[in-house]
Amino acid sequence: MHQTQILSCEQLLEVFSSSHIATAIYTSEELIIEAVTREMLKSWGKDRSVVGQSLKAALPELEDQPFFAQLQSVWRTGAPITGMGVPAQLLLDGELQTRYYDYEYRAIRNVANAVYCILHTSTDVTDRELGLEAQRRDQEKQEALDREQALNEELAASNEELAASNEEIAAAMEELSSINEELQQTQGTLQALNNELEARVLERTQELAEREASLNYIIDGAPVAIAVLKGTTLLIRSANEFMLKIWGRTTAVIGQSIYDELPELGEQGIFGLLENVWQSGEAFSGSEVPSMMSDGAGGQRTIYTNFVFKPLKGDQGRTHSILMVASEVTQQVQHRLASEAARHRFQSMVTTTPVAMTILKGKELIVEIANEPMLSVWRRTADQVLGKGLVEIFPELRDQPNPQRMRSVFDTGKPVSLPETPVMLASTDGVLHTHHAKFSYDPIFDQQGKVESVLVTVIDITEAVANRKQLERSQAALQKTTNELATLNEELAAANEEMTASNEELVRVNEELSASARQLQQLNDTLSESEQRFRQMAEGSGILIGVGNAAGDVTYFNQAWSRLTGRTMEHLLTWGWSDLIHPEDKEDYIRLYMTSVENRVPYTGEYRILSATGVYRWLYAFASPRFEADGTFAGFIGSCIDITDRKEDEQRKSAFISMVSHELKTPLTSTVSYVQVAQKKALTSSDTLVAGMMERAGKQLGKMTRMINGFLNVSRLESSQILINPVRFDLGELLIEAHEEATARVSSHRILVEQAGEAWVNGDRDKIGQVIDNLISNAVKYSPAGSLIKLSCTLENGQAVVRVQDQGMGISAEHLPKLFERYYRVNEPGYQQVAGFGIGLYLCGEIIKRHEGKIWAESEPGKGSTFGFILAVV
Ligand code: ADP
Repeated sequence: MHQTQILSCEQLLEVFSSSHIATAIYTSEELIIEAVTREMLKSWGKDRSVVGQSLKAALPELEDQPFFAQLQSVWRTGAPITGMGVPAQLLLDGELQTRYYDYEYRAIRNVANAVYCILHTSTDVTDRELGLEAQRRDQEKQEALDREQALNEELAASNEELAASNEEIAAAMEELSSINEELQQTQGTLQALNNELEARVLERTQELAEREASLNYIIDGAPVAIAVLKGTTLLIRSANEFMLKIWGRTTAVIGQSIYDELPELGEQGIFGLLENVWQSGEAFSGSEVPSMMSDGAGGQRTIYTNFVFKPLKGDQGRTHSILMVASEVTQQVQHRLASEAARHRFQSMVTTTPVAMTILKGKELIVEIANEPMLSVWRRTADQVLGKGLVEIFPELRDQPNPQRMRSVFDTGKPVSLPETPVMLASTDGVLHTHHAKFSYDPIFDQQGKVESVLVTVIDITEAVANRKQLERSQAALQKTTNELATLNEELAAANEEMTASNEELVRVNEELSASARQLQQLNDTLSESEQRFRQMAEGSGILIGVGNAAGDVTYFNQAWSRLTGRTMEHLLTWGWSDLIHPEDKEDYIRLYMTSVENRVPYTGEYRILSATGVYRWLYAFASPRFEADGTFAGFIGSCIDITDRKEDEQRKSAFISMVSHELKTPLTSTVSYVQVAQKKALTSSDTLVAGMMERAGKQLGKMTRMINGFLNVSRLESSQILINPVRFDLGELLIEAHEEATARVSSHRILVEQAGEAWVNGDRDKIGQVIDNLISNAVKYSPAGSLIKLSCTLENGQAVVRVQDQGMGISAEHLPKLFERYYRVNEPGYQQVAGFGIGLYLCGEIIKRHEGKIWAESEPGKGSTFGFILAVV
């Protein structure tokens, strides 16, 4: 045997590499190329530099092909993998080419049966595969041709069929095209509709957004409390400031459940109401519902609300939220409760008052309340009137003005009062009764200040009116008698006598008065002799005596004062008695007293004082100043006598004189006119004797008229019926007019105007004219015939002065201050022949007093008199 040559490893690899069979050996799982044949390198398109690299690094283009995975599987499992005609994509000559291979991956194991390398053998079978492919394609082509042929035949057959149906189709096409047109049109319409819808949807969406915004705006700005609660959990979706205020919460509650945030509402049953609204879908409203709410400061307050819980529903009518609207009416309710209480008090006042009252509500005049006196005027029971309209109860009122007057109160809001109005009301039996009543309609206002009802007060004076009518009838009868009197001229003389008699009586009273004045004077003198005697006397007599000090305070009253006033001595000394003087006399008397104290001169006066029995007594007061031994003024000592009886006598006399004067006036006026007619007749029939007698009768009647007018003026004066109508006039001019009248009337004396300058004064021209006439008449009366009477009107110290000067008998000084007293006459020889009543100067004095002027007399016996008065110039 020949010796075997052992080849080295390199040699073996060299041999191996030059093999024509494409082979490669890989080791490890990374498939490191250990050895590769040229043939394999050729098929890879690589050179030997790939040896030692991993297969992945050498042939990266194989990455997404199955080979690496197969090799790794062989490595792991040891099981060989073969492939026949498998395409592989390889990078050859710079481009990726597809080649087909038969190959085998075989694991080579060592003695321990572990794989230590993989033998890869491969044969390029691209040409074979491509040939097979071409063959396959040819065959397919042939088969396709065959199929085409068969189809062609089939087509030819069906072509005919088609031609036939083509016509049908053409017809159908036409139909279709028309349908198509229609469809196109419809599509156009639909498109337009769609656009429109889209626009509307857009608009609606915007609208909704705006509404949402404005709803929130409205809620926030609404003047009432509003909240929206969403879902069954009643989530507070929104709540405006008012609602938060009512709740006593802040905006923090928004977005939270009302159950959690306002548990107090649950305690007051509000949650139950809300749940009801939710379930029923019906709104719920409450008015003036009281509830306790937090005041936001830890306390609680009662509030009253008017509220509505309204379900808000979606398109399907399902409630999604609840709208809470509430307005707080706490103030109104409190006001109403207060005014109801006041109204209740008012109504009970109406029902208990003894005057007939009713309250009529609204212009329908519904009787709300009518008290017992009202029901008796109406002759109805409460059941017959309450709740009914006044005109419904008394249909006869429809034609009478009262209901309209009541209604007018609702329009004007002003009370109406009707003095003594007749109204006819029927009793239930239909008989009409006339009532005379005073009505007053007063408005009753509600809280808004509108007239709600009218309070009718009725003072039924039916009886008083009946009495008055009776009186009027009696007066008419009296009038008739008076007229009859007019025809009885003869009675005039008798009345005249009576008048003279009363005059005498007056004179006597006057004397009595002077006598008592003198008596008082004497008494006063005696009193000052001794304090002790004075006191004894003072207490013993019925005369009221008081002693005052230099300051005018009274320091002593006698018992008579206590008896008269019913006041204790202490009371009189502390508080006096001036509050008891009659209000009409008080001012004058106090003024008289104060001026006398001031001037320390005696005074006399008359005034009324309230006696302990509650009636006024007339007092005649006389007071004179006292002086100490050294001549200093010590105060006043005053005495008063009760002259009530005399006063009453005087009043009766005055009333009598007034009545007689009244009664005389009418017949006297008739007599004057008869005498005038008779005088005219006598003149026309030239009966000068009768005419002369009639003229004298006329003059006498003129005198009588003046006298009677004088008496009437006195009585008017006393009953304050003389009214002064002031005008601005020239007193000088009035004096000239008076002079003209006097010269026409008087022929026995020479009357001259000495001076009559312009002097404008404010006063009652007629009454001042009467004063001048009176003074001229007196001058004529009390001065000898043929003597001179001088009149003048001058301005002195800015005042108008009128003087009437005569050359008559004159008046002695003692009478001068009394001349202007009522009924005062000088009772001296020479005066008695002159007729008069002593009222002329009294009237003059009163008229001038009412003009705030001054009147006086200057005279000396035997040297004539001057009477004058002063008025302010304006
Ligand atoms: P009658 O003149 O009616 O008596 P009067 O009131 O006019 O009343 O006058 C009151 C009294 O004053 C008169 O009674 C008279 O004594 C006196 N007397 C008035 N005027 C004069 C006068 N011019 N001269 C003198 N005495 C007069």
